Amino acid sequence: MAIVGAGPAGYFSAQALQSFSSEKTTFKVDLFEKLPTPWGLVRSGVAPDHPKIKSVSKVFEKISDDPNFRLFANVEVGQDLSLEELKSNYDAVVLAVGTPSGKKLGIPGENLANCWSSAEFVSWYNGHPEYSKLNIDLSGKRAVVIGAGNVAMDVARLLAMNSSNLENTDISDYALDELKKSQIKNVWLCARRTAEFASFTAPELRELPELEDTSVIISSKEIEGAMDRLHSDAERHVRANLEAMHAIACLSHREKNKTLEFHFGVVPKEIRGNGKVESVLFDSGQGEIVVEADLVVTAIGYEIDSEWGLRVEGNHFENSDGLIEDNLYVVGWAKRGPTGVIGTNKSDSAEVIKRLFLDLTKKDPKQVQGIHKLLENLSPINLSEWRRINEFEVANGMKSNRPRVKLMTTKEMVDVAKGQS
Ligand code: FAD
Ligand code: NAP
Repeated sequence: MAIVGAGPAGYFSAQALQSFSSEKTTFKVDLFEKLPTPWGLVRSGVAPDHPKIKSVSKVFEKISDDPNFRLFANVEVGQDLSLEELKSNYDAVVLAVGTPSGKKLGIPGENLANCWSSAEFVSWYNGHPEYSKLNIDLSGKRAVVIGAGNVAMDVARLLAMNSSNLENTDISDYALDELKKSQIKNVWLCARRTAEFASFTAPELRELPELEDTSVIISSKEIEGAMDRLHSDAERHVRANLEAMHAIACLSHREKNKTLEFHFGVVPKEIRGNGKVESVLFDSGQGEIVVEADLVVTAIGYEIDSEWGLRVEGNHFENSDGLIEDNLYVVGWAKRGPTGVIGTNKSDSAEVIKRLFLDLTKKDPKQVQGIHKLLENLSPINLSEWRRINEFEVANGMKSNRPRVKLMTTKEMVDVAKGQS
């Protein structure tokens, strides 16, 4: 089986297939990843100040230890190899390519300089090599983050926190330098609906009072209004969220360096500026408000890459319980759209692979030509070469009490992988 995309859904699919192996039948898994480094959003999405979440990478490495598992990183399917080539060379192909682009607001001004999607901004601070050169300007005072999910929360927290708290993380070096110089003093997190509809979660809210340099400001009136509107059968997590927000709203504030303000019921209508963002116009329900902004980050969800030539439904590939067509399957965010935590992809991938396994038992195994022929002119990074990158980064991190120091460019990664540095 070929899996395309080495994020959580790709690894959990490999693990699910491994679980069907027996003395009689073994399954070979080839995992293709476009970057020189695997782990998907566990490396390039999860916030640097949340290191425990990244420990799931140990599970991924264990899955890779299986003798029937091979990694082909630094190979972009669709560019270096076609999907058709994979389909005709493997019994089954599983797409686990995620939803890489930021959803657009579709309002005027979104293309102004210093207005970024979370797909760009998060990839930048996490050292994704395709985003390391973004010209993110933190020299202004006010940042506006649009969206009320956990990604908006990550972005707002990182902008509002004391950068010294990021020094011992795996944040990219250039982002740490920029955050140290940052002049941002006031971060607005702007939700288009009222507080009971926020999709960020209580554990993330409960971290906020620990921000030593930052006053977190939430209107208790807004939260009490939301609590009054709740029906008796409201879901537990909504109540937990409102309680966590109320606890923050009731904190007394001593003078702190920075503020993180939550604003609810503000619908973005226009981003204004002269070449570069200067303000955001919101409809507050009671009229329009204009908020000054030197940086805007939209954290309103993600979109599937439409260039695969596959049918798209909403923000994922059209599929029937994971089957796209013939021997092509899909898992993870590319299957369901961009929602769900890392663990959601485990159960979801297991369901799809169970179906794939049953489909395979009805067919004769393909007589495949060696995949190496297709890779002849490429420079794939195999498992031991990736582990060389991993060890190199971790060893550099140990020198400065960090989990790792990420390599910045594809070239640096390839050089370390191939032992040329
Ligand atoms: P991805 O993780 O996006 O993996 C897709 C992989 O496919 C990538 O490695 C990509 O490079 C590769 N790929 C894409 N195109 C190609 C191609 N053409 N050829 C080869 N490879 C390709 N969940 C939590 O539980 N805790 C958190 O703290 C958390 N934080 C998050 C923070 C952010 C900013 C985001 C966006 C999500 C976060 N999540 C978190 C959710 C979690 O990351 C997702 O549920 C999960 O990563 C989805 O897995 P996936 O494998 O479908 O996609
Ligand atoms: P999300 O939870 O779906 O939140 C998206 C937010 O964007 C919602 O508040 C939504 O508001 C808003 N939005 C959408 N379109 C908008 C528009 N046109 N204008 C204004 N606002 C708009 O998505 P996410 O934050 O990208 O997170 C993706 C997934 O990753 C989630 O499942 C999340 O839990 C997970 N994740 C988890 C963690 C963690 O566990 N710590 C961290 C990060 C991400 P409406 O509700 O009004 O549509």
